[in-house]
Amino acid sequence: MKKIVIGNWKMNPVSYDEALKIFNSIKRFSAKLNKTDVVMCPPFIYSHSFIKKNKDNIVSIGAQNVYSEEQGAFTGEISPRMLQNIGISHVIVGHSERRSRGETDEDISKKTQLLHDAGIYSIVCIGERERDTNGNYLNFIKEQIKNSLSKVNKKSLGKLMIAYEPIWAIGAKEAMGPRDILEMSLFIKKVISDMFGQNEVKDVPILYGGSVNFRNAGDIISQGQVNGLLVGRESVNPPGFIELLKAVDSL
Ligand code: PEP
Repeated sequence: MKKIVIGNWKMNPVSYDEALKIFNSIKRFSAKLNKTDVVMCPPFIYSHSFIKKNKDNIVSIGAQNVYSEEQGAFTGEISPRMLQNIGISHVIVGHSERRSRGETDEDISKKTQLLHDAGIYSIVCIGERERDTNGNYLNFIKEQIKNSLSKVNKKSLGKLMIAYEPIWAIGAKEAMGPRDILEMSLFIKKVISDMFGQNEVKDVPILYGGSVNFRNAGDIISQGQVNGLLVGRESVNPPGFIELLKAVDSL
């Protein structure tokens, strides 16, 4: 399986010209990669133009959110089919910055299945707010996964990716250590195997996100045994992101 690096641009940058510069430099470098798939998730407003400039599919263009219904009177929302029709291939669902604004596990599970129905990969984010010494965070993660995937159909698992993003490591100084990431990636695999069956989930990519940069990316993937990374800040900083892609592709 190729490694996957997903850039969550969040609400950046503020101008289209700047966005286009970032897109062009990352795309140019991505053409040289052999073992890594790159997905850029810019704000919705930039995505259509990027898709037109990406006819060669050197990168994939994703989105940061989607609505949990297919069509209708939902002012300001965008549906999975709309995204599919313009060529969006991946969508981040349940990012902690959206969960903290009221998005529930129920919404996330609905969105995830609708995305799969539309042929789009979902990147379902999970992660504990804090750690404790009794292992309660493991129960929290288990419940979060079960609830966030409760409406997901076994047959659509080929479109599922899980991004483990401990909230305390997002936007922080340091990422989680690779040994702890390994523990969590094994735990997540066990939870989804218990839900859907070992064989059914063997190809579901597990990604890590939270303060990833070019210095720690290689160890996180190789020692943490994850299939890829979800990158926030560094994804809109082309020099740093390109170094990160180099480090991942050289593994
Ligand atoms: C994120 O918000 O998904 C994220 C991983 O952010 P950062 O890389 O900036 O910690």
